[in-house]
Amino acid sequence: MGIIEKMRLDGKAIYVTGAASGIGKCAAMAFAEAGADVAIVDINLEGAQKVAEEIKEATGSNTIAIQCDVTNQEQVEAMVAKVVETYGKLDACYNNAGICINEDAEKMTYEQWLKVININLNGVFLCATAAGRVMLKQGYGSIINTASMSGHIVNVPQPQCAYNASKAGVIMLTKSLAVEWAKKNVRVNCISPGYIGTELILNNEGLKPLMKQWNDMAPMGRVGKPEELQSILVYLAGDSCPFTTGSDIVVDGAFTCF
Ligand code: NAD
Repeated sequence: MGIIEKMRLDGKAIYVTGAASGIGKCAAMAFAEAGADVAIVDINLEGAQKVAEEIKEATGSNTIAIQCDVTNQEQVEAMVAKVVETYGKLDACYNNAGICINEDAEKMTYEQWLKVININLNGVFLCATAAGRVMLKQGYGSIINTASMSGHIVNVPQPQCAYNASKAGVIMLTKSLAVEWAKKNVRVNCISPGYIGTELILNNEGLKPLMKQWNDMAPMGRVGKPEELQSILVYLAGDSCPFTTGSDIVVDGAFTCF
């Protein structure tokens, strides 16, 4: 099989969390375009159903929509079980759901801190370990998590200590799982996007005024587009990179280079 064929995802079963919008939706579309059956997972069921329909229509992928709060262990276990029941296996997953709260550290409440850590870090732990248990049993699988350039740098000017800490945690969790499961043919990688123009950014009133500043600061003079993460995600989900595990792939238009 040639390298391009190995990168295709025909016949693979993949779930994506946080897939009702933004990066998750765009990733789900890419997996489906590459041939996979994709489960669209989100706390927002209506949004997930809409995306599942849209992707099915565009690609012919056998999509399903599943409502799941990634901070709820029972719901996460049920979500993974539903994916396996539907497709008979779980080839890959993209644990991507996340939120950001921008607040000065001295004003941040413990509730705000916990909310961010729960969704962004604990949610990835719950999803990755639930998926990992299935994949270890199968003897194969690829887990992808969404970290952020904020796991590497304190990207001023907006204060977001909980977000930064959660994403640094995702990077180390990814590496830890990768090492534990390296001999078992279960790969675990994460991507660290820079600023990407999605709802998370565009609908956040607090962040809107900062957009010009980000564009000015960015080496490329602009933020990224969700589509610009698609190829790396398809690559990580597929069979063309068996030696790629424990990697944190930064896709940030060189933002963290200076
Ligand atoms: P988004 O707000 O467009 O999408 C996030 C999705 O996650 C939404 O559909 C939301 O309903 C879902 N979600 C929120 N809480 C959930 C929960 N508890 N359980 C299940 N689903 C839940 O955001 P996005 O920009 O597409 O961000 C996706 C991921 O990428 C996040 O982890 C974010 O931190 C990360 N990221 C984003 C950027 C960026 O600039 N947009 C940069 C780096 C990393």
